[in-house]
Amino acid sequence: MDQNIIAGIGNIYASEILYKAKINPLRRGDSLNNENIKSIIEATNLILNKSISVGGTSIKNHVQPDGKLGYFVQKLKVYGKTKQNCKECDNLISCETINNRSTYFCSNCQK
Ligand SMILES: [Zn+2]
Repeated sequence: MDQNIIAGIGNIYASEILYKAKINPLRRGDSLNNENIKSIIEATNLILNKSISVGGTSIKNHVQPDGKLGYFVQKLKVYGKTKQNCKECDNLISCETINNRSTYFCSNCQK
């Protein structure tokens, strides 16, 4: 499998998980308190379970034979949504490159 596709999936999950956990991706890891970390763990479980339930039993099923990402992508809330309105607050979604990863987030919802 193409490593770019795997990295792409990693970016998607990272953006979606932090959005769900309402944590701003620009925050430093050491600024997170226990409650923040708990939110991230809960959001991770939720997003991964959801992606499996809509997309099949493995992450592989999210990539279609033509290399495009599958059904899970249609359920995304922030990833790839630059300049679109946040579903929670109508603020525009931002995109920042962090460690060479495109990270999408709502600066209003995610603190
Ligand atoms: Zn928002």
